[in-house]
Amino acid sequence: MRETAAPGRARRQLARRQLARRLAAKRQRPTAGASVAKALARLRRLKQRFARYIGRAYGHLAADCAVCPTPCCADAQFVNVNIVRLEAEAMLAALRQSPRQGPEKAREVIARARRAVARHGLTEAGDTFEKTYACPLFERGVGCLVHWKAKPAACIQHGCYERWEDLPETGTQRKVERQVAALDEATHGAPSVWLPIPLWLAKLAADEACQPSPDDGAAPRQARQAEPR
Ligand code: SF4
Ligand code: SF4
Repeated sequence: MRETAAPGRARRQLARRQLARRLAAKRQRPTAGASVAKALARLRRLKQRFARYIGRAYGHLAADCAVCPTPCCADAQFVNVNIVRLEAEAMLAALRQSPRQGPEKAREVIARARRAVARHGLTEAGDTFEKTYACPLFERGVGCLVHWKAKPAACIQHGCYERWEDLPETGTQRKVERQVAALDEATHGAPSVWLPIPLWLAKLAADEACQPSPDDGAAPRQARQAEPR
């Protein structure tokens, strides 16, 4: 009996030691999800700081988007905003975590994004700023679904002004976009790729579908509230 029990005990001890080592290594190494969550929080603060600046300095000079009869976000000949992966993650997280929107709304937006990709022939090839699309995040009567928490810098900057001299300076937007790209690169460990909003949303949803997630409406890693554009 001792001859057979001893190897069994040794194997159990070895397995326990291996498990302890794995758990210790896991405790020391931050998970990818945790770092994405931190990056999303930083991204949100960055965008909100920029939005406050634009609102304070230029908001009173711009037309009121809430009463606009022809919202630019729905104009398929106009929108050519490109974003990075982290911004797409922030958009889906914002929708899913919003008490007003939620996972079902995220699924609707993803479906609209896929349709926009097909309808407008959005691809990663060539100059991705050349193609335009109607934004899947826009809803009539509501506005931009990610207005406060995940709006791209280009959208925060954009507005209609009576006079050219009232237009916001562009240096701060460029700076914010550089910061966004750096954050994205640091988070994902690869150079940022700028793509049209629908394309990144569709790509992200496809990636998530490949991950072992029980509910494609509940993002494993992310971050919302909706206000009119
Ligand atoms: S920026 Fe505002 S006011 Fe101008 S077209 Fe777009 S929604 Fe309308
Ligand atoms: S992200 Fe929001 S503000 Fe920008 S184009 Fe889409 S709906 Fe408009």
